[in-house]
Order: sequence, then structure tokens, then C-alpha cells
Amino acid sequence: MKFQVIPVTPYQQNCTLMWCEETKKAAVVDPGGDLDRIEQAVSQHGVELEKILVTHGHLDHVGGVAALAKKLNLPIEGPHKDDKFWIDMLPEQSQMMGFPPAEVFEPNRWLEGGDEITVGNETIEVRFCPGHTPGHVILFHRPSQLAIVGDVLFQGSIGRTDFPRGDYDTLIDSIRTQLWPLGDEVQFIPGHGPMSTFGHERKTNPFVADKNLKQ
Ligand SMILES: [Zn+2]
Ligand SMILES: [Zn+2]
Repeated sequence: MKFQVIPVTPYQQNCTLMWCEETKKAAVVDPGGDLDRIEQAVSQHGVELEKILVTHGHLDHVGGVAALAKKLNLPIEGPHKDDKFWIDMLPEQSQMMGFPPAEVFEPNRWLEGGDEITVGNETIEVRFCPGHTPGHVILFHRPSQLAIVGDVLFQGSIGRTDFPRGDYDTLIDSIRTQLWPLGDEVQFIPGHGPMSTFGHERKTNPFVADKNLKQ
């Protein structure tokens, strides 16, 4: 599996293009906007988009989903159905935040923890990580030890929990029970900012370092 991170929208959200090297089939994760830049990356790498994957229903992550799905006739997988209320609010949210108009969409497949997703010949594992939003999922490609975690965890920080149906304790619990068991050496692409590893965050992240959490 290969990937390229494409920061999109004024929020510099890390949209990820990932593809199977054998088949050149690709998935785009969290196409929040700037679809021209995403399509440019697709043609630059000579890959064929097969599906859209979604970590959670926030505007900066999904603002471009409906338009891209329609334009290229792509199926949408994710997030978990508990984020439907966020997706249903996209038209109001985009107006409020000064984003280009974002349409509501209906995923072809709602995801749950334990699900598997294919991209070409590659398999991606799904983990359910509520807390930032109630229906947040993360994606894990075990062979390359790579996770795409959306707004669950950042280098040096964690996702906000002051949104409707966000919950701090739930988020910490998701990180400890769903992310850490994947292994310290796992590299992750966060929803915003630079990549890091779970091991690095367990040592240094003020919110979730082992030394700062009650065991
Ligand atoms: Zn978010
Ligand atoms: Zn975000």
C-alpha cells in the first residue's frame, strides 16, 4: 500500500490518497474539499479511484464527499452510523463556516469496529473510536503498520470533545483500548498536522502519555 497526504480546506485537513501497488486501485480518505487537488494527485500517481472512505462526519473531512461520489460514481464507506446527525447538518455547517456548499450524503456502507475494507488487493481494518464524535472510526493497514486516525489523536494532542455528543473520557478510552493495542511502532496520519507513531505519543503526548494516565 502506498499513500499520499493531501492537506485540504482552510483547516488543512489531511485527506489521504492510498492505493494498492499491484492493482493501482485507490481509495480517498476524508475528501473534505479542494477536489481538484485530490484529482490531480490521482492522475499524478496513475491510480484509479475505487471508493471514498470516511472517518467521521465533520465538514472539513467530508465537505467534498457528495460531490466527488457523484462526479466519479464512487461508493462511500464510513463513518459509523452514529455520525449521521453530523452528515445531515452539512448544508448548515458549510454555510456557517464559510465553506463551499456541502451536500448531505448517504454512505453505501456504515462501518463498525471489526469491519474490513478492501482497496484493490489490500485489506484495511476498522476500529470504532468514539469520543471526538460518537461515530468516529479509524483505519488500520496492518501489513504497513499504518493507521489513519482522523481527529482521534494528533502529534502532541487529542481531538476536541466539546462538540455535540463528544465525550472526553470516551475519547481517552478509545485511544487506550483501540489504538495502543495496535502497537508502539504503528505510524499514524492524524486529521491535522504531522504524522507520528503511537509509541511516541505514549511517551510524550500530554493527554495520553502512559505516565499521565491512571493505569
Ligand atoms: Zn473532527
Ligand atoms: Zn478535523
